[in-house]
Amino acid sequence: MSKGFRPDTICVQAGWNPKKGEPRVLPIYQSTTFKYDTTEEMGRLFALEDEGYFYTRLQNPTNDAVAEKIAQLEGGVAAMLTSSGQAANFYTIANLCQAGDHIVCSAKVYGGTFNLYAATIRKLGIECTFVDPDAPAEEIDAAFRPNTKAVVGETIANPALTVLDIEKFAALAHAHGVPLIVDNTFATPINCRPFLFGADIVTHSTTKYMDGHAMAVGGCIVDSGNFDWDAYADKFPGLTTPDETYHGVVYTKQFGKKAFITKATAQLMRDLGSIPSPMNSFLLNVGLETLPLRVEKHCSNAKKTAEFLKGHEKVEFVNCAMLEGDRYYETARKYMPSGTCGVLSFGLKGTKEDAVRFMDSLKLCAIVTHVADARTCVLHPASHTHRQMNDEQLREAGVTPGMIRLSVGIENPQDIIEDLAQALEQV
Ligand SMILES: *Cc1c(COP(=O)(O)O)cnc(C)c1O
Repeated sequence: MSKGFRPDTICVQAGWNPKKGEPRVLPIYQSTTFKYDTTEEMGRLFALEDEGYFYTRLQNPTNDAVAEKIAQLEGGVAAMLTSSGQAANFYTIANLCQAGDHIVCSAKVYGGTFNLYAATIRKLGIECTFVDPDAPAEEIDAAFRPNTKAVVGETIANPALTVLDIEKFAALAHAHGVPLIVDNTFATPINCRPFLFGADIVTHSTTKYMDGHAMAVGGCIVDSGNFDWDAYADKFPGLTTPDETYHGVVYTKQFGKKAFITKATAQLMRDLGSIPSPMNSFLLNVGLETLPLRVEKHCSNAKKTAEFLKGHEKVEFVNCAMLEGDRYYETARKYMPSGTCGVLSFGLKGTKEDAVRFMDSLKLCAIVTHVADARTCVLHPASHTHRQMNDEQLREAGVTPGMIRLSVGIENPQDIIEDLAQALEQV
């Protein structure tokens, strides 16, 4: 399929272009290896001189078709699938940084990303400074160092639900000659395409809305192809100087706009190996086909649910950027005019015990750690993700004892609201 189609068409058809007599549906190439006729043919693949499949850790037709679909959805030049969102975020940093380097990251990011950047990459010699994403540009600017190599944020933060001012972050990153990486998991490219606002690289936990059915953990890295690595060659030697582990290839010279993803595949995937199974990529592809329909329904259901909660006497506050008056309403309108996502949070008036009674009274909304799939689910941070903290520590972390995280599914909105209403009556 040629490029240039609209997102809903890309979701259904991009990535897999069957020729005469081939399967209409993307096949699951459940094969680790691929056959060649001559020694020379395979040799050229190892030399990165020819494109072709030889080992699934490096490339697999099912995985590549789905990566191509996501690249088109984001408006990027190339993408790589990973076995999880965590792997995508780790590889993105590992592809740019080495020991002695530094990154700047929004403090409002997914807990797993926070640990990865605060603790794990630190052990590898890469430091991270966390910044308040809502702080004025000058304040964030002060976090940069000469060895800073990237800036990171989430379009809609999980679970804080803050909305990133992408243009502000892109301007800061570019003023320092480094790329902006945006984790676009919650918004999905249906609601936001960060490349249009200056982001250079996008990552995803495809585990969430892209899969959408809570079936397969996965991740993806997409490169816009816009960042000029050669203009800042000293900062990014991994991309601009010979890779001795690949016969001295210089990624920017040989692969141009696809340098970043080619390096991530040829070097990081080769050495670290967090690939998705072709079966999981197949499931992800099925999810992607209906992504636009589901995202629209998630958003309209979440908005109705947020409006109901906002008007309820037992509810103290609601965080949902689609609600007028929300702190992020204007920012969300700018970056996500069709809606944000199905995840919202709200605070019950009362104690932690009241929240527990509410949770345990729900019948349709399930208590699940996951978010962003078809089924409505809830989590009580004070009892679950933030269980070890006392009330004072909870407030410091921005979590109130009565706060509930609600991932609104695609059921009938009235059924979701009625379930919440009967559980609120028990409080
Ligand atoms: C879930 C999530 C991740 C981690 O993804 P996994 O697929 O669980 O490894 C990263 N970023 C965001 C925003 C997420 O919601």
